[in-house]
Amino acid sequence: MNVYPWFSVLWEQLTKSRQADRLAHALLLTGSQGIGRHHFVSNLVASLLCNAIDDEGKACGQCRACHVHQGGAHPDYLAIDLPEGKKQIPVALIRGLSGFLSLSRSYGGFRVVFINAADKMNVNAANSLLKSLEEPPPNTIIILLAEQASNLPITLRSRCQQYTLPVPIRSESLAWLAQHDLSESAEKLLSAAANRPLLALSLDQQSGYMNDRQRFAIDLASVVTEQKSVTSVAKAWEKYDLLTLLDWQLQWLHQLFKNNILDKTKIDNNKLMACLASAFPNQDKTWQAYERLVQMKSLTDYPLNRLMFNEAMLLSWVKT
Ligand SMILES: [Zn+2]
Repeated sequence: MNVYPWFSVLWEQLTKSRQADRLAHALLLTGSQGIGRHHFVSNLVASLLCNAIDDEGKACGQCRACHVHQGGAHPDYLAIDLPEGKKQIPVALIRGLSGFLSLSRSYGGFRVVFINAADKMNVNAANSLLKSLEEPPPNTIIILLAEQASNLPITLRSRCQQYTLPVPIRSESLAWLAQHDLSESAEKLLSAAANRPLLALSLDQQSGYMNDRQRFAIDLASVVTEQKSVTSVAKAWEKYDLLTLLDWQLQWLHQLFKNNILDKTKIDNNKLMACLASAFPNQDKTWQAYERLVQMKSLTDYPLNRLMFNEAMLLSWVKT
């Protein structure tokens, strides 16, 4: 199992640290969803558990430790994740960790703990983990994966070696997507996925996603040109996933903003984008709409009247 090409520099860096015996007992990996973060962590975990890694630091896949890990039953490995339907990792889950860390190791590799969505630990959970990090048991690596590392207490962060999982550059993403059978154009998918290749691929596999996105863009354009009322469009999308709607709008505003600076012909040559752009007389207005929608995004955790919320959201596109 090779890591994705955009992670190879980071992989090398970690492998070198390991070879030089400088790998910290806690690694904090930060990166956004849809770039293959879990694939990277799987590789890393497998490598740390393996008893016969190769020169590139990859797990051999053949040794006893690799076999039990592949069977999903390695006794020296523990994964902690958000409980289903919950927004926080509760302290009880992290407390369970100390029991695991006090066991003796069964195989020759490292003992490995993986905490997914580590930035979703509640305060007590983070404090409890801090205690484990202050007295690290030998030969143990705790891997924390987070989207927003800044949500973690600084005391916790400072005890970790921090690494960023990078978003690949566009050409790298396109090259990777070219290896897959896509029903949509890779360019379009990547734009919808904010350049994140695995997300782009999953969007292609979600039936109707790109179609819905296009239909919503057309509806927004109808609001801009006053061919449809805000209320009718708000109603038409009342049941649709709200965060998706907000993200699409933010993506288009971001494109408008960027292309206005870099290459305005990209807007002029695209009828739909040109129409959306006409809602905003200048960059300041585009930015204001963007900021407004970002703020609205933070309200989606609360119970809302969807119709009213949709209306308020669509007002961002009404010409003033
Ligand atoms: Zn192995």
